[in-house]
Amino acid sequence: MLPAVHRAWQALPARCPACGLWTRGHRCTLCLARFAAPQPRCLGCGMPRHVWCNACHDCPPASARATQVVVGADYGLPWDGLVSRLKFQQQPELAAWLAPLLAQALDRLPVARAPVDWVVPVPLAPRRLQVRGYNQAWEVARRLAGPLGLTARPDLLLRWRDTDAQTGQDGRQARLANLQGAFMPAPGCRDLLAGRQVALVDDVLTTGATLRAASQALREAGVAGVCWWVVTRTP
Ligand SMILES: [Zn+2]
Ligand SMILES: [Zn+2]
Repeated sequence: MLPAVHRAWQALPARCPACGLWTRGHRCTLCLARFAAPQPRCLGCGMPRHVWCNACHDCPPASARATQVVVGADYGLPWDGLVSRLKFQQQPELAAWLAPLLAQALDRLPVARAPVDWVVPVPLAPRRLQVRGYNQAWEVARRLAGPLGLTARPDLLLRWRDTDAQTGQDGRQARLANLQGAFMPAPGCRDLLAGRQVALVDDVLTTGATLRAASQALREAGVAGVCWWVVTRTP
């Protein structure tokens, strides 16, 4: 339960950064209805298809992927602009508008939500965190976990290599090699991870390589299952 002062702040009128309308709190029902209408998504890859797309059906996610993939919306108007401003224009407060997008998708899952013990943001490498000043995934994760009655933990998983440089690399193999060993469980946290269920939170899902590398590190630390909760997915 949020402290009273925080609940009061959330209920204050605020202006939607996408459409400009005044709303109660940071949830624009107009934008959510117009730009995040319910649509079936594959629970293995998050693409807007059936509950399990053919590719995921043939390759069960239990092997290397997520237990359940939940996506707020396609990476398109107006969410792409909000995510970009959240990340690159020093506007961490926009996470308050993006967390409800993911919350809505979790609310509308056609199946039971997989159990979750910890909500964990995909971490940034220390240097990038220092430059940006905040981790956008944590800004979303912490706003999402509270209303769901879950605990967000930014301290369980570390990233010690900056892999965003992967955009400059050619080829899938090079990207994957760069991600190998980029994540590790935080020292002294293995007891908190062993046998637990984790929801990894990120802002954008594209190839899934980053989330897979983070999931692999969690599984190697003994985590029983990893869900991916992602604000947007590139179509
Ligand atoms: Zn709006
Ligand atoms: Zn799929």
